[in-house]
Amino acid sequence: MATITETVRRPQVRQTQCFIGGKWIPAASGKTFETIHPATEEVICEVAEGDKEDVDAAVDAAREAFDHGEWSKMDARDRGALIHKLADLIEEEKDELAAIETLDNGKPISDSRNADIPLVIDCLRYYAGWADKIEGRTIPIRGNYFCYTRREPIGVVGQIIPWNFPALMTAWKWGPALAAGCTIVMKPAEQTPLSCLRMARLAQKAGIPDGVINVVPGYGPTAGAAIVKHPGVDKIAFTGEGATAKIIQREAAETMKRLTFELGGKSPNVIFADADLDAAIEGAHFALYFNQGQCCCAGSRLFVEERVHDEVVDRLRERNLDRKVGDPFDPETQQGPQVDEAQFDKILKYVEYGKKDGAKIVSGGKRVGDKGYFVEPTLFSGVTDDMRIAKDEIFGPVLSVLKFKNVDEIVKRSNATNFGLAAAVWTRDVAKAHRYAANVRAGTVWINCYDVFDAAAPFGGFKQSGLGRELGEAGLANYTELKTVTVSMT
Ligand code: ADP
Repeated sequence: MATITETVRRPQVRQTQCFIGGKWIPAASGKTFETIHPATEEVICEVAEGDKEDVDAAVDAAREAFDHGEWSKMDARDRGALIHKLADLIEEEKDELAAIETLDNGKPISDSRNADIPLVIDCLRYYAGWADKIEGRTIPIRGNYFCYTRREPIGVVGQIIPWNFPALMTAWKWGPALAAGCTIVMKPAEQTPLSCLRMARLAQKAGIPDGVINVVPGYGPTAGAAIVKHPGVDKIAFTGEGATAKIIQREAAETMKRLTFELGGKSPNVIFADADLDAAIEGAHFALYFNQGQCCCAGSRLFVEERVHDEVVDRLRERNLDRKVGDPFDPETQQGPQVDEAQFDKILKYVEYGKKDGAKIVSGGKRVGDKGYFVEPTLFSGVTDDMRIAKDEIFGPVLSVLKFKNVDEIVKRSNATNFGLAAAVWTRDVAKAHRYAANVRAGTVWINCYDVFDAAAPFGGFKQSGLGRELGEAGLANYTELKTVTVSMT
């Protein structure tokens, strides 16, 4: 067992350079940055620090592959087969990829193995199936004309992703882009570049032509900004913070790039007194603490109906005390470290805000150990809507419980935020559940469940939680331009 653990703990990190036009090359500046294992704060390796020059080269390669290469013009079914092949190769290396993800991000190995990597494979397979099903329509216009539409690939897409689900965000971005016939310049997050680089290696091995996928690791304001400003990029798909999205939106205005954003949230999770409380409590725990609380759709505002409030808080506390926090490579671990020091500091600052604003700590609130960025699963009760912990996205294991009295009040309070990514409701009353689903302003609503993701189901935000949708047919549509062709029949 010890040897297995050691092998898993030290996956082979082979790809650390920029991947441009099918070649692995150092950054033009020669600069590198460190990526660390957040459980021990040890440096894993140095990674090429891409910047404008590298982005220029990557966009040239992607442009060439799009404008003159075979990719966007090949038989769509063959393109689908290559995406399937990439999924096959990931499946072959799934244990190693899961270990790389845990090493770089700190998430528990059981999550990397059972959630992240299987979802990566599923997403790629789902979109592989779409490649030959991207159809236009015929339109009955006035006069003697034949009018039809074509859905064409949008072109070169810049994809900028965060660190919370590095491999999965790569798949969410690559799947629809590849199916549509686009070419890609991707920048993974500076905290977690390794799984994306490994996936690029597998894409090459699968036979996806050189220049179709290019990866430039580096920082946001340098490499990221260069992608956003580049006139050769047709669309930006971004996942991250709203503040960054607003910068991107301004920068992209100059070249009128197409934009899709998947941003933050402060999602309401509502437990009515008539709910199956066992399921609701487990669901509320999972909704917030999964992935160390580092989910854009985390159920971070837990509204509990007055009648069952005290019981729910007591049982959530017990559940938190039971949660196994520690070495992310231990298969029993349920919660690993936060991704880096900045996130760790931010979370502890919000714990202080919670106390200052008058909320009551029910459990947690402190660091775990003295090495690595571990935070106790933290539960606040007595939270009111105006407190900072009820309004701001904390992106950590801090759950705020708010009390409510009736149905009318809960929709209003759920919607009293600029976010609108997700919401959930727990009740046995079907009509009440659907009424809530219809009235809450959020892109995804879960009824008696939470965080149920599927590549076929669109995901994205209302209000300041996003622009456009990812996954499903809607996600694919955002990688296409619609062309109308009208033919005179005379
Ligand atoms: P998070 O808090 O999740 O790190 P960010 O929005 O800061 O959210 O980062 C998400 C991604 O956006 C990362 O890959 C980051 O490097 C990138 N990024 C940050 N700032 C910019 C920027 N000004 N332009 C383009 N990309 C950026």
